[in-house]
Parts: sequence; structure tokens; C-alpha cells
Amino acid sequence: MNIYADNAATTKTSRTVIDAMLPYFDKFYANPSSLHTPGQEAMEALTRAREAVAKCIGAKPNEIIFTSGGSEADNQAIVSAAMIGKSKGKMHIISTAFEHHAVLHTLDKLEKEGFKITLLDVHENGMVSAEQVREAICDDTCLVTIMYANNEIGSIQPIKEIGAVCKEKNVLFHTDAVQAVGHVHIDVKDENIDMLSMSAHKFHGPKGVGVLYARTGIRLTNIIEGGAQEKGKRAGTHNMPAIAGMAVAIKEACDAIDTHTPKIVKMRDKLIEGLLQIPHTVLNGDRYSRLPGNVNVCFEGIEGESLLLMLDMDGIYASSGSACTSGSLDPSHVLLAIGRPHEIAHGSLRLSIDYDNTDEEMDYIIEKTKKVVEYLRNMSPVWSDLKKGKREYVIQ
Ligand SMILES: *Cc1c(COP(=O)(O)O)cnc(C)c1O
Repeated sequence: MNIYADNAATTKTSRTVIDAMLPYFDKFYANPSSLHTPGQEAMEALTRAREAVAKCIGAKPNEIIFTSGGSEADNQAIVSAAMIGKSKGKMHIISTAFEHHAVLHTLDKLEKEGFKITLLDVHENGMVSAEQVREAICDDTCLVTIMYANNEIGSIQPIKEIGAVCKEKNVLFHTDAVQAVGHVHIDVKDENIDMLSMSAHKFHGPKGVGVLYARTGIRLTNIIEGGAQEKGKRAGTHNMPAIAGMAVAIKEACDAIDTHTPKIVKMRDKLIEGLLQIPHTVLNGDRYSRLPGNVNVCFEGIEGESLLLMLDMDGIYASSGSACTSGSLDPSHVLLAIGRPHEIAHGSLRLSIDYDNTDEEMDYIIEKTKKVVEYLRNMSPVWSDLKKGKREYVIQ
């Protein structure tokens, strides 16, 4: 069996999406910025794509900026809000310790430029609260940026409540919704979101294309300088095949949320229950406020890397945390943020499933994982000490 269970890293591009992209390579290949007829036809396709994306998140088409993906959208949202803040003498930004590195590294850069950054603590269940945000906001705060759903542990944050606090306090609110768009219903107006990032390849669209939604009236700062594309706020010839593909992918994903979610949640819960039967195992992230397809657990006495390699030999393709940090030996900053000690954070497994996975695959994953964990524990000196009582179990 070959089971792809790493949909949080990227998803398979849907067949209908590929079919929608192809004509933009060899038929409608004109540059939408050209004034001739084929150029204007491409411009019409661009307009339709913008409308489709806007509709899926309750935004207006002129609030949609096409980018090269989620990372660029995060960078632009944060830098823009920081520049608006700076012009008013407000140089304080609030975020959380478990954001994606596209957010954290942008904040590091701003900190070196004199901004003051507050990273909110994340509760053990992977949640931050609107109350924490309220307490952290001060007169100097120009931006709150908090992810919609965490990419490693899947916890979905109280975005509407956080947005309401920001609105009341007159502070801009950005959310990295890369893991959420196409998987849960989002309405930027209803949820008080000023700026939002998304990425097509996380909802069965192509890689290398994303969107920054920025509410009307927010003055954006360029990350890419050049031509006048995207109202002069994001230069570069439009990646038309990718944009057309993204428009189809977001509609397809959003239309199917209500049909797919119950099926995915059922598989997810089966997986969680099955894996938690393994002794000294803990679930990471909130049990209920959780992405439909996310499972993340820590096994005591295990090295996540060895676990992944052995599961790979069984045809199970998972990850230990974020794809972006694999290859580095540091434990996940997300697991550390929710208070897992280093040695526990090292023993993590993330399985991110989607509608094309099956019930039988869940049984297979549970069976194989049980065997591999037992095998690895039997070889581990740490496990032997734990069993002999020479060390205390961290996970009961
Ligand atoms: C994947 C991901 C990103 C980066 O998106 P890219 O399109 O790959 O640049 C940012 N934030 C989160 C939460 C993600 O999961």
C-alpha cells in the first residue's frame, strides 16, 4: 500500500484544475497587461479568477492581490501593516510563538528595524484566546497577526473573536489562513479579518501561486517592485495558468467542504483513537477545534526521524512536523510553544489526510505505526530506563 498522508505539506493538483490550466500555456498565452485582443481576453480571465477567489472568502474582487504563494502574502501583509504603523509612530506588533516561519522570520527582520514584537504564549491545547490579544494590545500596537489554523498541530484559532477585539481597538488584523482556506468556511467580513494569506497548493491547486486579501483602504507596501500589475502593488507578469488553476481549485474545495468534512473527520478521529491506544502517547493540538484532516501525536521514547523512515518503508508518507523544518535537527518550534519538552517534541508524527484517503488506509496506518513504535522503543536506551523506573515518564 502507498498512502500519502502529508497533505499539510502540499496536496495533489486536482485533474479539473490541471485541465483548466492547460489552455493558458498554448492557447490563451497572451500577457493580460497587453492591449491587443488576446491580451484583453487574458485580462478577462484574470478578472474572472479574481472574482472566483473573492467570492469564496466573502471579499470584494478589488481586495484580492495575486502573489507567488502563502509566504509572499504573509511577508507583504506584515510589512504593509508595519509601514502603516510606522507612519503613525506605532511600532508594536502582536503575534504568537507557533506561527509559520514566513511570519516569524518577517517579524524577526522588523524587530531588527526597531519594531517591538510580542509573541503570545500558546496554551497546551494549541490555542490562543481573544482575551490574551486584548491584554497585549497597547497604544503603540499597529498589527495583530495570528494564524487561522496551525500547520503542524491543526488547532483552529478563535479568529472572529480576535478580529472583533482588533476592530474595537482599531488595530489591523492579519491571519495566515494557508491551512484553512478550502478546508473550513471563511468569511473575512463576518470574521473581522483585515488581511488574509492563502496558497493554492494547500487546496489541490498548483504550487507557486497564492493570494493576499487586503480590505479596501489598507495601503500595501510592495515586496516585488517593477511593473504596474495588481494596482502597482505586486509587479511581475501574471502567472496565468496558475491563477486560472487556483480559481478552479478554490471553488472546487469550498463547494465540497460540507460533503468532504464529515468523511475526513471520521477518518481523522479513527486515526487519533487508534494511535492513542499506544501507551505513553499524547495528542498535540485541540481535540475539537481542529482541522478536519490533521493528526499530530508525540510518542515517548521515540525519534521522529526513525519513525518516519520506517513508515516510509511501509508505504506511509507522513511528516514529523512542518516540511519547512525537516532536515534540521531542532525540535519543532510549534511543539515547544505548546510546552512539550525537547525529548518529547522529537518523537512527533503528523499525518495530514484528505478526502481521497480511505478507511482501510487508516487501519493500515494504525497497525503499522503500533508495530514501528514498539520496535523502535525496544531498541531505545531511553525506553529501557523508563521501563526500569530509572526515569520518569513525561507522557502518562
Ligand atoms: C504552506 C504554508 C505557508 C507557505 O505557503 P507557500 O505557498 O508554500 O509559500 C505559510 N503558512 C502556512 C500556515 C503554511 O502551511
